[in-house]
Amino acid sequence: MSTYNKETEAIRTQIDRSQFLEHTSPLYLTSSFVFEDAEDMRASFTEEKQRNIYSRFTNPNTSEFVEKVCKLEGAEDGYAFATGMAAVFSTLAALLESGDHIVSAQSVFGSTHTLFTKYLPKWNISTSYFKVDEVDTIESLITSKTKILYAESPTNPAVDILDLELLGKIAKKHNLILVIDNCFATPYLQQPIKFGADVVIHSATKLMDGQGRVLGGVAVGRADLIREIYLFSRNTGPALSPFNAWTLSKSLETLTVRVDKHCENALKVAQFLEAHDKVNWVKYPFLKSHPQYEVAKKQMLKGGNIVAFEIKGGVEAGRKFLDAIKLCSLSANLGDTRTIVTHPASTTHSKLSEADRLEVSITDGLVRVSVGLEHVEDVINDLNQALES
Ligand SMILES: *Cc1c(COP(=O)(O)O)cnc(C)c1O
Repeated sequence: MSTYNKETEAIRTQIDRSQFLEHTSPLYLTSSFVFEDAEDMRASFTEEKQRNIYSRFTNPNTSEFVEKVCKLEGAEDGYAFATGMAAVFSTLAALLESGDHIVSAQSVFGSTHTLFTKYLPKWNISTSYFKVDEVDTIESLITSKTKILYAESPTNPAVDILDLELLGKIAKKHNLILVIDNCFATPYLQQPIKFGADVVIHSATKLMDGQGRVLGGVAVGRADLIREIYLFSRNTGPALSPFNAWTLSKSLETLTVRVDKHCENALKVAQFLEAHDKVNWVKYPFLKSHPQYEVAKKQMLKGGNIVAFEIKGGVEAGRKFLDAIKLCSLSANLGDTRTIVTHPASTTHSKLSEADRLEVSITDGLVRVSVGLEHVEDVINDLNQALES
């Protein structure tokens, strides 16, 4: 467990230096590692010796990245993946058997939802959903087959908050594995393990890299579960590349300063939007008007960088607003230094019916802003001129 504060751990956790005594960790761009002799080879493969064998299993750069995330999350162990979705899929595939059942929050990341509805049923794994504002229904969904309780908080794209302490208690009572996708919060703002999560997943593509450069994912948590996830991944091949791991490990050194500024800017953007007459409502975890404000305050250090709001005038107004944006980017990513604006109803969720969109809290005028690190005045001015146009 951590002996230093998070800022220090994210900067100072480092693999051993090579003979050159480099200050920054070198990039180990190698597919495999050499054995000293036959005995070394044998002992490495039987795991009597803990060492790098092949970069699909482990690599010094991925190990450094994973160790940092473990320290930040307060986790026993972890494994790094090529993408956030590889982390989600590998975790579920490693921990579930045919016939098992998942209870999940209804609003989860789009591809995670597709995994639940389209792919896991192929292996006879089913999922039941609870609405984020109906957590009292969770226990009624649990059956003797239920193995995993799954949720994100804050959720994407509606920025709803789930009470992690409550989920932790339910999981414990029913002996379920609690899996939390902590992507929007980062381990700096929220550590689900403190509330009883068994596995915590991140898309490192988002705020962990924070600069829109590389894809990555990571799962950390209970050592016995991570062992299963590791063995599954070692044999199926979703490993993070050493280059991306090196980039992500460097990015974590600035995680706290970046996220502090993201949160400061996002709160100002949320306050600006809340006061604007073309806006119906704003959802930001640290605005008093957020329905789960008290829960957010309890489990998060700050509100994060995602602001959701509903523009007056539905789908048409949403599209017009996007077309009038000048500075901010229209892009599929989030958690970048650059502010990104999306309109789920006409893009990521346009294939759903209006009723299905509403089920996952996506109204026609919903706009999601991933607030970046530009001067906040410039971001607000851009949103303002687009709202006025
Ligand atoms: C982006 C995202 C993912 C998927 O991550 P990728 O790196 O794009 O595969 C999973 N969960 C959440 C909450 C996300 O925002």
